[in-house]
Amino acid sequence: MPDAPKSDALDPLSALAWQIDAGADEAVGDTPVDRTKAAKEAARNPAARPMPDPHARRELAEGPAPALQSAGAIVESARRLAEAARDMESLRAAVESYDGCALKKTAMNTVFGDGNPSAHVMLIGEAPGADEDRQGKPFVGVSGQLLDRMMGLIGFDRESFFITNMLFWRPPGNRTPTQGEIAACLPFVQRMVELVDPAILIFVGGASAKTMLGRSEGIMRLRGKWYVYECNGRNIPARPIFHPA
Ligand code: URA
Repeated sequence: MPDAPKSDALDPLSALAWQIDAGADEAVGDTPVDRTKAAKEAARNPAARPMPDPHARRELAEGPAPALQSAGAIVESARRLAEAARDMESLRAAVESYDGCALKKTAMNTVFGDGNPSAHVMLIGEAPGADEDRQGKPFVGVSGQLLDRMMGLIGFDRESFFITNMLFWRPPGNRTPTQGEIAACLPFVQRMVELVDPAILIFVGGASAKTMLGRSEGIMRLRGKWYVYECNGRNIPARPIFHPA
């Protein structure tokens, strides 16, 4: 952690640089909250009431945060929403309306999927990064450009495949997704596979390979072999590959 800025009157760019050095890479509120003000106020005037916290007010208005619901109830609500979706557009609407994954609160956009939902090939990566979060599309950053070049070498473009991720929202700072976050999104990913009904599934990286195949080995062991992903009684050939990142 860098030393805190010495002066209250620091110019805004230096203050921002200090926050970035300290690891803050997301703005989670529209207005800054001076949390030291309440303490200073209380010290000056102990009878003063504490400052209202805008985040606390938002939680009261929206009901309990997802973390306060049981994990089972969250997954069950995702499953019900996903099953009710009859086509990709209603599945997209269901994902966008879903509040069971706390990552949605810090993400700029929902990253649902991209490409041709009627394609024979479907790719599933891990989670959106900063570029994907900004544009609301999967695999548009540096690793996505490499993936596009790899697919281009075998004659495929985004019209020849459909691509999505195990998570629809960016984990802050691109941290590794938790099992809870993956579980909260999984019913939508599984429903997406049912709706796309691809001839071939490609799991891009260890997170999607392990989760979708229910395996515990890492990508070093899983990659380069064919597996079977069972979907509505049909065995879809599935192949894990290294993540282009
Ligand atoms: N990495 C992923 O797994 N998915 C993206 O969309 C971008 C980077």
